[in-house]
Order: sequence, then structure tokens, then C-alpha cells
Amino acid sequence: MTDKVVVITGGSRGIGRATAIAAAARGFRVVVGYASNKKAADEVVALIEASNGKAIAVKCDVAEEGDILELFKEADKFGTLGALVNNGGIVGQSGVRVDEMSAERIQRVMAVNVTGSILCAREAVKRMSTKHGGKGGVIVNLSSVAAKLGSPNTYVDYAASKGAVDSFTIGLGHEVAAEGIRVAAIRPGLIDTEIHAAGGEPDRAHRLAHLVPMKRVGTSDEIANAIVWLLSDEASYVTSAILDVSGGR
Ligand code: NAP
Repeated sequence: MTDKVVVITGGSRGIGRATAIAAAARGFRVVVGYASNKKAADEVVALIEASNGKAIAVKCDVAEEGDILELFKEADKFGTLGALVNNGGIVGQSGVRVDEMSAERIQRVMAVNVTGSILCAREAVKRMSTKHGGKGGVIVNLSSVAAKLGSPNTYVDYAASKGAVDSFTIGLGHEVAAEGIRVAAIRPGLIDTEIHAAGGEPDRAHRLAHLVPMKRVGTSDEIANAIVWLLSDEASYVTSAILDVSGGR
């Protein structure tokens, strides 16, 4: 058990929501970041408080540096930062080829999935690194098996953004390994969340389930379980590592 603070971007829905609940059950004081869905974030906080956990909801669009600075300011007021889960992420419309993509779409995907994750990590390292007087901590980044598959004819920009998350995980992990901070990534496979609807294909995960060696989609809880393991001392020798949680996909 820990009483440290974990910041979870995109903690209002899907994998982030499941992670917030699982982290609170392990004693973390949870900062539930959300982009726009305050109601969903407030519900996560209420659920955690109903189980005697501690949580606050903070608006943070990770494409906005100012929002990120505010998020971490609120986290500082809540306690000592011990972990960051870079979960907030987006896809563009599914089924768009690269030769049809707008610059705005690509820039938005990169701003949220890549720049946002790196800036949040910057704020976390400033607080957790022993080099800066911190007590150490853990950063978990949400990548995707798309980083390996490339997502042709679906969303290559998204896949590329997750490839960047993988490289970032390895590099940052090495950079801060001797400063008490572990950095790891999870590559989820097809998980049953609303992200597929956001890409215009609500039943995408179920439609493609037959391609998964385990022949089923995964749940947010199955990803959250892997994330809270990485956050725990049980993973004390795991850094710069990327774990596929994908039913074999
Ligand atoms: P989701 O159900 O669509 O939830 C997305 C979450 O991210 C929401 O809490 C949302 O906040 C937040 N968010 C959206 N845009 C944001 C922004 N600009 N700044 C901060 N937060 C933002 O997605 P999910 O499936 O749980 O995905 C979570 C992570 O797992 C993502 O990084 C995704 O790429 C990755 N992943 C998912 C799958 C999958 O199959 N589901 C597979 C591989 C990887 P609001 O509620 O305020 O909108």
C-alpha cells in the first residue's frame, strides 16, 4: 500500500477510469484528469470516495501545456507525487489513408498522444527525481499494439504516435533510471472502450476479435491490472520496458 499521489490523464473513462479505481484500491490518492467530460470524472471520484479512497477530478487537455501545469499544481496540493499514468489519448477518424489526411488531424493526434505525454512526464520527473530532491516514482505510458502493426488503412498517424511513445519510454527510462524513477509502457490490444466510437467505428474491437489469438477483446480492467502492477514495488526491477497486454495480438 502507498499513500502517494498518482496522476492519471484521461482518468474519466475507459482504461483510465479502470486504472483510477484500481490504483485507489491500492492506496493511491488519485488525480483523475479529464479533457471535457467532467461528469464522468466526478463519477470516478465519487466511486473511489464511496470505497473510502481519495480522489480529485482536474480538467486537463494534455494538448495544452497550461492545463498540464495546472494539473500538477493541483496534484502538489493533494500530496506527494509518486506516479504518473500517461493514459489520455485519441484516434482520428478510422479508415483514412495517409494520402487523405489533413495536417490538422495529424498534429492533433501527435499533440495529445506524444507531446502531451512527454510534457506530463517532464512535470512528473521534476517532482519525483532524486536529482531534484524527489523521492522517486513510476511513469506508465499507454502505447498500443498499433505501434507494431502500423494500422494501415485505419489510422497510421495514431500508430506512429504510439511508436513515438515506445521510443520515449525506453529513452526516458534510461535517463532517470538512476534517479529513483521507473518508466514503462503497456501496449493494449483491442480493448472494449469508447475510443473506437470516437474513431467512427463503435464495434471495431468486436468486429476484429477473431484476429486476436485469444479470440476475444480485452477489458479495461485487464489493462488496469497490468498498470497497477507496474506502479507497484512488485515491478521494482522493471524499467524502459514495454508490455503487450493484447491476448497475443
Ligand atoms: P477512451 O475510452 O476514449 O477514453 C479516453 C480518455 O482520454 C477519456 O478519459 C478522455 O477524457 C481522455 N482524453 C481524450 N482526449 C484527451 C486530451 N486531449 N487530453 C487529456 N485527456 C484526453 O479511450 P481508452 O480506450 O480508454 O484509451 C486510453 C489509452 O489507451 C489511450 O492512450 C489509447 O490510445 C490507449 N489504447 C487503447 C486501446 C483500445 O482498444 N481501447 C488500444 C490500445 C491503446 P474525457 O472523458 O474528458 O473525454
